[in-house]
Amino acid sequence: MPSDHVDVLIVGAGLSGVGAAVHLQRECPGKTYAVLEARGAIGGTWDLFRYPGVRSDSDMFTLGYSFKPWTDAKAIADGDAIRTYVRETAREFGVQQHIRFHHRVVRAEWDSGTARWTVTAHRDDTAEDVVLTCAFLFTNSGYYRYDEGYTPDFPGIERYTGRLVHPQHWPADLDYTGKRVVVIGSGATAVTLVPAMAERAAHVTMLQRSPTYVISLPSRDPLADAARRWLPAKAAYAVARWKNVALGVANFQLSRRAPTLVKNFLRRAAKGKLPTGYDIDRHFSPRYNPWDQRLCVVPDGDLFAAVSAGRAEVVTDTIDTFTEHGLRLTSGAELPADLVVTATGLNLLALGGMTLAVDGTEIDLAATVAYKGMMLSGVPNFAMTIGYTNASWTLKADLVATYVCRLLRHLDRTGQQIVTPLAPDSDDLVPIIDLKSGYVLRAVDRLPKQGPSAPWRLHQNYPRDVLLMRHGRLTDEGVRFSRASAAVTDPTAPVA
Ligand SMILES: Cc1cc2nc3c(=O)[nH]c(=O)nc-3n(C[C@H](O)[C@H](O)[C@H](O)COP(=O)(O)OP(=O)(O)OC[C@H]3O[C@@H](n4cnc5c(N)ncnc54)[C@H](O)[C@@H]3O)c2cc1C
Repeated sequence: MPSDHVDVLIVGAGLSGVGAAVHLQRECPGKTYAVLEARGAIGGTWDLFRYPGVRSDSDMFTLGYSFKPWTDAKAIADGDAIRTYVRETAREFGVQQHIRFHHRVVRAEWDSGTARWTVTAHRDDTAEDVVLTCAFLFTNSGYYRYDEGYTPDFPGIERYTGRLVHPQHWPADLDYTGKRVVVIGSGATAVTLVPAMAERAAHVTMLQRSPTYVISLPSRDPLADAARRWLPAKAAYAVARWKNVALGVANFQLSRRAPTLVKNFLRRAAKGKLPTGYDIDRHFSPRYNPWDQRLCVVPDGDLFAAVSAGRAEVVTDTIDTFTEHGLRLTSGAELPADLVVTATGLNLLALGGMTLAVDGTEIDLAATVAYKGMMLSGVPNFAMTIGYTNASWTLKADLVATYVCRLLRHLDRTGQQIVTPLAPDSDDLVPIIDLKSGYVLRAVDRLPKQGPSAPWRLHQNYPRDVLLMRHGRLTDEGVRFSRASAAVTDPTAPVA
């Protein structure tokens, strides 16, 4: 069992993990670090998902890193452009040589005596377990299971003789040219797949149990294009980024304060893009309020265009049963299908499935309270990246990484080794993720909680978090700084 020690161990080499490594290098240049990545590639989500049309649904000026301008023409970008951007970042900033691929972290044990984590990773290429130690553990492992997407128990599925595919495991050789396709789902993946597949398929049906809010946005951002013509890349990026942050915050706040107004606006916008007489209320008017679940963005109205052209259709109904050749719906309608795509979502997974123990006691995540949305009560020297649910993930990821660097510098400055968040003195706890989407509700009992007020409450508000995380106090009633109880004579020595 090889063993070694780093100051900071980052778990995951996706968008967040690569960004975290860059922040660490720049903001804590003396720290040693390694990135453990379960897969054999950089990019996480943007490497895993390969379905037709895969793309962001937020703009890249806010999904891009604060330190690396997004310079592509498209603001809503294709998956491979995002993958290239993450890989380029890893190369450009020298992160790549710190990544150890095929290392799936399965367990981390904290010892207060030595102020160290002992982390066990399983190598799926050699089947051995590797043990490392670190002073600070920083998980950037995303939020869902990589090995298996979510598929509900569909009645009669075993009778179906056509092809069944989950978007998370898209076969590279799947040819759907001229085929009749049914996409089950109404989320971001379904609304991406339907227009993309409609370009080659005979016909695509999006079968949804209930509608989602869908909004068309231009794939290019005219302000960003203009700013790029007149300003240096960094300044143009900052202009586009802050414009989109402001729009996003305004949109979210308006949705919370005047949901009916926003509902009507979204309905009118969809109506304007669909043929006269189209049943908007049935197919595009959800029962919930905007931002109770994420809005689905369609670039340049591609979904509406495919529906208007008759290449795609939206059916709002429930599945009675799969048949040999397709699906029978509760209304009695039959949907013939050569290929069914189950765009039915993800299986949420906290901390990439690893278990944690602190001084010999197992940590039950559901019993912890998140501190500033990024640390866990009772878990020392540990941070995790969970992005915004109402804005681009990376806006929060950048702030979390910066905050971790501030904490590390504070520890060094004050001669202390340990930072431990504390739980609030209140039972008024709510789930850490405030969305009512199916994938959240299925897992909410296993996730950490958030408290009633700051610093345990998530604001989901980037400008406010900038003040709190970049400039706010590091010491407050929610956190304790301390020294290791046993002196570590040589901090670089491996733990036996
Ligand atoms: C199809 C799709 C589209 C999306 N579009 C958007 C969007 O437009 N805007 C937006 O804001 N968000 C979007 N998201 C959310 C998206 O996941 C984030 O934007 C972002 O990619 C998350 O980056 P991450 O690095 O935190 O996580 P991931 O991309 O999930 O990367 C996590 C990495 O950690 C590794 N890992 C996990 N567990 C372990 C372990 N135990 N040990 C070692 N390594 C581990 C994984 O292999 C992976 O490489 C989308 C998600 C999906 C699935």
